[in-house]
Amino acid sequence: MQMVLQPLGIRPVNSGAGCGPTDGWLTGSGPERVSFSPIDGQPIAAVRQADGDDYEAVMARAREAFHRWRRVPAPRRGQIVRAMGDALRSHKAELGALVTLEAGKIVAEGEGEVQEMIDMADFAVGLSRQLYGKTMQSERPDHRMYEQWHPLGAVGVVTAFNFPVAVWAWNAFLAAVCGDVVVWKPSSKTPLTAIAVHHLIAPILERHDLAGVFNLVIGQGSAVGERMISDPRLPLISATGSCRMGRQVGMAVAKRYGRSILELGGNNAVIVCADANQDLALRATLFGAVGTAGQRCTSTRRLFVQRSIHDAFVAKLVKAYDQVTIGDPRAAATLMGPLIDGNAVDEMQSALAAARSQGGEVIYGGNRVDGVPGGFYVQPTLVAAANDLPIVQAETFAPILYLIPFDDLEEAIAQHNDVPQGLSSAIFTESLANAERFLSSAGSDCGIANVNIGTSGAEIGGAFGGEKETGGGREAGSDAWKAYMRRQTNTINYGRSLPLAQGIHFDI
Ligand code: NAD
Repeated sequence: MQMVLQPLGIRPVNSGAGCGPTDGWLTGSGPERVSFSPIDGQPIAAVRQADGDDYEAVMARAREAFHRWRRVPAPRRGQIVRAMGDALRSHKAELGALVTLEAGKIVAEGEGEVQEMIDMADFAVGLSRQLYGKTMQSERPDHRMYEQWHPLGAVGVVTAFNFPVAVWAWNAFLAAVCGDVVVWKPSSKTPLTAIAVHHLIAPILERHDLAGVFNLVIGQGSAVGERMISDPRLPLISATGSCRMGRQVGMAVAKRYGRSILELGGNNAVIVCADANQDLALRATLFGAVGTAGQRCTSTRRLFVQRSIHDAFVAKLVKAYDQVTIGDPRAAATLMGPLIDGNAVDEMQSALAAARSQGGEVIYGGNRVDGVPGGFYVQPTLVAAANDLPIVQAETFAPILYLIPFDDLEEAIAQHNDVPQGLSSAIFTESLANAERFLSSAGSDCGIANVNIGTSGAEIGGAFGGEKETGGGREAGSDAWKAYMRRQTNTINYGRSLPLAQGIHFDI
């Protein structure tokens, strides 16, 4: 364990609050909290959490830093992000190993998460020379009209345990090139990965005298989370987590006329048509449902298979599930590691009990397994179900896949959309008409809709997020950056008269 912790500066007890540079760590005056590994339930290291005073100290530093940072030209801000991307590049294996240790992801997924951060840094560096505004044609003579984008302020970033570092990068790198400063509250389940990221970027921030641009506050909900969401000094809160959390955050931020980006739960489905390439569909479904032990917001949770191929396809799926090696995520052969903690195992068991009592039938898995003693391992599980069962309508953060046969595509799309969430979706078909129907305005109602690839594993180049109870926020690529800036419309009169718009005359 020391080989993972030491290169990342993780000590037996770590400060949970800092302003960036190496000497920017605060003492952390809140209660100590131990982070346990889901691999074996053993303690990894402790964090002295931030209390209210620490939070105030960080916010003061962030506010002061914003006044300087917003005046740094965006391409120079991009150079700082480039250096941070390089630091991540050269520590990809180490940080990935800590993600594995603290979040339980298999090695490829732990490192893949760090790669996503690196990609995001590259994207943001390019963006730092763009941040384009439009020029409009004025209706008045000798007038010029355009819009420009200015930095917004300090951005509060609240992250979930299941992408303990990548989601910070999606937000922080965009916010930084946009001229904002960042205050990060990671999940209390994965604080050490956040501390490690801050250790990695500290020398860069120190070298460039950038205390207060990237800040970290790890603390209890009441001491930190609740303060952040009602703090008007944070004009934007970007929060990733459950729909329950999003409802609280969205309401608190709206109450103070703040802005929020909400990235919440999904209930993602794959539709497999009778004409699909079944090999592709099978592999994508397996990865989508079993990858990260079903703990991705984009995990495949419902599978609609056309009735004529349903039984044969499910038989192949059962065979594939049988091949999944479950166990220590550090082992090269492991495909599925543990759930995050004992609560997650209990929630999976309660969901399966509910499914059974509502008329569903567990046709594969459903049990705890011994991976490593003390860890939280379960079997990936298949449940024959109907879309309208209450348990199918909810997101259970575990590897449960509900199997639902369908007869015609219109019916499948209607059921597909008939859940409260709207994050990611996919169809497998060789028919252009089916694919286009699924992508049309009368098709999938999700923020992400794919053809012949699964629901999980989005690229950072596209805007990421979903509709309905998934929150409506967008992060990462495309023009998601606009949410991190304030838009200003400017009109310049370079003539010698004062014509009014809409033909109004107001002569004196
Ligand atoms: P969670 O809602 O329990 O916690 C997420 C974060 O919110 C944590 O940092 C937590 O401390 C914080 N939080 C909770 N209540 C808060 C409050 N009132 N004020 C301020 N902060 C508060 O979620 P989790 O268990 O860590 O993560 C799993 C969930 O996250 C799943 O529902 C998953 O779908 C979702 N998720 C969504 C996306 C996405 O992009 N849509 C990505 C990853 C995870």
